[in-house]
Amino acid sequence: MTGGDLAEARAALRARQGAGARYDAPNAPATELAWARAGTAFFARALDGLTDRDLAGPSRLPGWSRAALVAHVGYNARALTRLCEWSRTGVERPMYASADQRAREIALGASLPARALRSLFAHSETHLDVEWRDLPDAAWDAEVVTAQGRTVPARETAWMRTREVWVHAVDLGGGARFADLPPDLLDRLADDVLAAWRRRGEAAPPALVPTDRAARPGGDGGVGPAVSGRMSDLVRWLTGRGARRLDVAGPLPDLPRWL
Ligand code: ZN
Repeated sequence: MTGGDLAEARAALRARQGAGARYDAPNAPATELAWARAGTAFFARALDGLTDRDLAGPSRLPGWSRAALVAHVGYNARALTRLCEWSRTGVERPMYASADQRAREIALGASLPARALRSLFAHSETHLDVEWRDLPDAAWDAEVVTAQGRTVPARETAWMRTREVWVHAVDLGGGARFADLPPDLLDRLADDVLAAWRRRGEAAPPALVPTDRAARPGGDGGVGPAVSGRMSDLVRWLTGRGARRLDVAGPLPDLPRWL
């Protein structure tokens, strides 16, 4: 969706809802919120497509059951809700008390009955969305600290959630695929991975040559052999979800982790 389309869609929604409905503040990150909400629906569809028995099975993320992944995505929404509360009130609310507490919470969540796990996802995402909708203009620029220790404006929560719901929907191992992601979101994910590597001082990445679209804006300019393929396959590889249908002269280079 372009910015214009998005503004039009929001105006149409307001017209349908009439007086009294609440909306995102003008200063809210409209593109990222639209991605996060569409991605939440995408994750919900992937989850609905799994039986309770499927939930106990392994996800595509090594070492993670589907149940643990759903618990993680639910608790991630709660953690991002805490960051929004922090930005709104100025009272510090970290995402997680510690890495240990985060891991214990996920293990506990994964042991919940399937119905409880599904409602954890549903309730936590609704709560986060209400928090976003009620966040005033100034709060979107207030600084908070992520679980990785980065100081970011609260608007970053919309992108952080976008990443989680779309990529973990594919990780669930139902029908969701990277090829289902919107093209502009794939570009943004590639940028996000490369930015994470730059921040950590990792070696320059190889040049990426998408075969299904024009050259990427900003250019990757990395060292090593150019890697080409569909953008969805390039992003699957960059995010550490495996290499498929990629062309490269020689062996594919090993990549650093993303997050
Ligand atoms: Zn995650």
